[in-house]
Amino acid sequence: MTLLLIDDDKDFTDFFVEAVAELGVTCTALTKSTDILHYDLGNTEHIIIDLSMPGFDGLQILRFLKDVKYDGYISVTSGQTHSVLESAKELCQLHQLNFHTLLRKPFDLSFLNKLIPAQRESKSTPICISAKFPCDQTLVKRLSIAIKQQAIDVYFQPKINLKTREVTGFEALARWFLDGVFVSPEKFISLAEKHQLMPDLTLLIIDKSLKHYLLLNQDKKNNFGLAINLSSTELKQENLPDILFKKLHQYNMPCDKVTLEITETVLLEKKPTSLEVLTRLRLMGFKLSIDDFGSGYSSVNMLQNGPFTELKIDRAFIKSINIKKQSKIIVKSIVDMATQLGLSVVSEGIETPEEARQLFEMNCHTGQGYFFSKPMPASTVNEWLSYWRDEMPTQ
Ligand code: C2E
Ligand code: MG
Ligand code: MG
Repeated sequence: MTLLLIDDDKDFTDFFVEAVAELGVTCTALTKSTDILHYDLGNTEHIIIDLSMPGFDGLQILRFLKDVKYDGYISVTSGQTHSVLESAKELCQLHQLNFHTLLRKPFDLSFLNKLIPAQRESKSTPICISAKFPCDQTLVKRLSIAIKQQAIDVYFQPKINLKTREVTGFEALARWFLDGVFVSPEKFISLAEKHQLMPDLTLLIIDKSLKHYLLLNQDKKNNFGLAINLSSTELKQENLPDILFKKLHQYNMPCDKVTLEITETVLLEKKPTSLEVLTRLRLMGFKLSIDDFGSGYSSVNMLQNGPFTELKIDRAFIKSINIKKQSKIIVKSIVDMATQLGLSVVSEGIETPEEARQLFEMNCHTGQGYFFSKPMPASTVNEWLSYWRDEMPTQ
């Protein structure tokens, strides 16, 4: 493995190069940041960048690495406050660079032991996946066939009452296994959006979800809600409310049992058609949820103007609720604001009992996440429900 360290502090770079050499790692140091502009990055697997450097600083280096499409790992170091480092991490992700670690100076050398083996393990996986995976064009053709053959599955993830731990409903999530290999929904949903496949895909998901849902609710003690995700393209389709209404009628399903989850970034495209479609859906009785709340930019505006009934807090906030004071404050404020606006609040991405407890204490009443259950195939939902009813402690 080859490391590159860019830092104007010569004493630090000398020390660092020597320390990693003892671990058998070759590290080159650049103390003049503009030298990166002429440096051959061909063999460099990991770059560690100091943020504060005179002339050409760490943020400009990140932009340069984005422009040259550097695909190795990047760690960022600085003596600045944690929030500055966090912003640099965010910037890496926005530039679609492979962010690795934040190193607040002075850092403990034990970090090196962590960094280097982790680097070796993680490097090989993405390369072998991308080599085997079909290109987008092939993928679109296969997706179109899969939709026609109804070969897209629906998995269900429960929504849980954080106080009683009862199941309040299930979210339907599309699943596609191409020749047995899992394709992420983010990937194939965005392809379906680009290639006008979304209306057919959504109808397929609704059909399959309703069939399973009705089987589940045959048991009289079940009275679950069903959540279905909608995509941007659909909100531009004026006849969407009628199509959905007919579909539900076909299954004799009341609209108010269905929550339509709409991702916030989608809502940002403030088109009159989208608002009209949303309002008609609400008039028909559908519940409307803002999904991934907080991940976009004008969430509060949507709350003021849209006909929503629920808000789902983006899992990025939940993930750091125990780590970052800021996340905790943001989540608490969102819960309070939504409650005062008369909306139900769901926290997504709960992975630990501690997160569930904290959210409950913040008056968030519903949660979803791997701590309760990962999305599961319809065939295992009943089995999971009996396990859940027997085993789960209340708050
Ligand atoms: P989403 O609607 O926000 O769904 C939640 C995502 O978070 C799901 O990813 C779920 O598997 C994942 N998740 C749930 N709990 C946890 C947790 O505790 N930890 C972590 N790390 N992840 C958790 P999935 O299934 O990969 O779906 C990704 C996105 O793709 C969905 O985000 C939704 O926007 C979209 N999507 C999925 N199915 C459909 C669909 O049928 N139609 C449309 N339009 N979009 C869909
Ligand atoms: Mg959702
Ligand atoms: Mg979400």
